[in-house]
Amino acid sequence: MQSLKELFLNLRVRDIIDILIVALAFYKLFLLIRETRAEQLTKGILALFLFTKLSEWIELYTVYWILEKAMTVGILALIIVFQPELRRALEYIGRSNFFTKSFIEIKGESLSEVVDEIVEAVASLSRQKIGALIVMERATGLSEVVETGTKIDGKVSSDLLINIFIPNTPLHDGAVIIKEDMVKAAGCFLPLTENTSLSKDLGTRHRAALGISEKSDSLSIVVSEETGAISIAESGSLARYLDTKTLRQILVDMYKPKDPKPTFITKWRRKYEQREGK
Ligand code: ATP
Ligand code: MG
Repeated sequence: MQSLKELFLNLRVRDIIDILIVALAFYKLFLLIRETRAEQLTKGILALFLFTKLSEWIELYTVYWILEKAMTVGILALIIVFQPELRRALEYIGRSNFFTKSFIEIKGESLSEVVDEIVEAVASLSRQKIGALIVMERATGLSEVVETGTKIDGKVSSDLLINIFIPNTPLHDGAVIIKEDMVKAAGCFLPLTENTSLSKDLGTRHRAALGISEKSDSLSIVVSEETGAISIAESGSLARYLDTKTLRQILVDMYKPKDPKPTFITKWRRKYEQREGK
C-alpha cells in the first residue's frame, strides 16, 4: 500500500504523457491487427511465451531450451509474416497530414479542365456500359502498380480515357492510373480487397478498386460493365450509383488545395494588408 502511495505521489506530468503515448500506440496497433490473420498469430505467440515461462518455472529444462530457441526464431518469423501489416502501418504513418499534403495541387483553369475531361469520359463510358477502372494517385506513390501495366504518360483527355477502355483492345483490361493531370499507365493490375463482407454482385473490378484504396490514399472510379453504374472507392469504402454531378464535386474537392490553417505569418500579413488598404 505504502509503495503504491509513493508511486502516485512521485507521478510526474511527463510520466502520464509517457503512459498515454504507449496506450495510444497499443490501441492503434490493436485496431490494425483486429480481424486480420495477425490476431491468431498474436494469440499463438502469447501462448508460446506463457509456455516458455511455465517450463522455466517448473524446471523442464529441455522443453524450456527448445521453446526459448523457438522464440528467437519466432521473432524473425514474425517480421516476415507481418511484413504486409508492418508496411501498411509505416505507410499509414508516412501518409498522415503531419508529413505530407493529401491533396493534389493543380492550379486555376487546368483544374476544371482535368475534372471536366474525366467526368465526360466516365459519363460516356457509363452511358455505353463500358467497364472502366480509373485510379487517381495522391500522396502514396503507385509506381509499383504503374509497372504492372503499359506506360502512357499522356495528358488527361476524355478521348484518351474512352479509347483505353473500348472492349477487346489491348489496354482495356485492368486499371488506368492518373497522377495530377497525366495518364501514367493503363492495363494495370491492382491488389484485390480481402474484405469478405462485400455484396455478392460486386465482382473483381470493384474489389480491385477497393483493394488499392485500402493500400493507398488513392481515389478510384469504377464504371460497371453490367449496369453502367458509377462508383468511387476511397479508404476501403465504396460509394455506389453516383451521378455525374456528385462525381464532379468529389473530383473538384480532391484536386482543390485545402485552405491551409492560417499561420502566424499569414495572419500578420493579412492584418498588414488590411491596414495598407490592399
Ligand atoms: P462489372 O460491374 O463491370 O461487371 P465487376 O465488379 O462485376 O464489374 P468483373 O465483371 O469481374 O467485375 O470485371 C472484370 C474486369 O475487371 C476485368 O476484365 C478487368 O478489366 C478488371 N479487373 C479485374 N481484376 C482486376 C485487378 N486485379 N486489377 C485491375 N483490374 C482488374
Ligand atoms: Mg461483372
